Amino acid sequence: MTYRFDVITLFGDLMAPYLTGSMLGRAADKGLIDVRYTNPRDFTHDVHRSVDDAPFGGGAGMVMTPEPLAQAAEHVRTEAAPARVILLSPSGRVFDQTVAKEYCELGSLALVCGRYEGVDERVSEHVVDEELSLGDYVLTGGELGAMVVIDAVSRLLPGVLGNAAGAQEESFTDARLLEFPQYTRPRVWRGHDVPDVLLSGHHANIDTWRQQQRLKRTKDRRPDLWARYRDEQ
Ligand code: SAM
Repeated sequence: MTYRFDVITLFGDLMAPYLTGSMLGRAADKGLIDVRYTNPRDFTHDVHRSVDDAPFGGGAGMVMTPEPLAQAAEHVRTEAAPARVILLSPSGRVFDQTVAKEYCELGSLALVCGRYEGVDERVSEHVVDEELSLGDYVLTGGELGAMVVIDAVSRLLPGVLGNAAGAQEESFTDARLLEFPQYTRPRVWRGHDVPDVLLSGHHANIDTWRQQQRLKRTKDRRPDLWARYRDEQ
């Protein structure tokens, strides 16, 4: 099955190089994902192909007008029938691995990218199904957010990662703990050794050590995740 992503963006040309390279490019070549771009400017009808205007009530910058975005979303809904249409927005629910897994089950997504000072509120009220934030900071546009979502969802799809077990053991996946520390060759690097247990060949001991490290690391570095983990135990 092909997972289809439709991105509504003024800047599909910025996204394509990343999404056609490396692992995601191979996933597309194998037919596991299909990323399409729709430009809201193609749904304008004035000579300047305008997609933005000054904010009512005054203030700095320009706001994306609703009609080109609405028509672009309607076009995508007709063409691809995405399971959900999502507006990237700092006001949305915050993206994390749990949301990535939820989206992974959907089979298709449309991602609407804002620019300038943002998007007319009526788009969020009447056009999209959901707003999604990348975190508590402000980006220039939604394209980086859309790429983050496409990347995180794609690597959960069967066949995208070479080693399927890899995605199972990663941070935030099992009980939302951080991953254990990883090491590779050389065994001693600039005088720093690898933990002995990893060289022991004793798989049960290695598993125990890794689980201890996940707990310690989460407790030390992410009190928020640790508190949630403790509550769920
Ligand atoms: N004025 C807006 C505010 O203060 O919330 C920020 C607008 S931002 C400069 C332009 C666009 O970038 C937004 O419409 C959104 O699509 C995207 N964007 C910026 N930060 C984001 C974030 N943290 N998460 C998701 N999208 C973001």
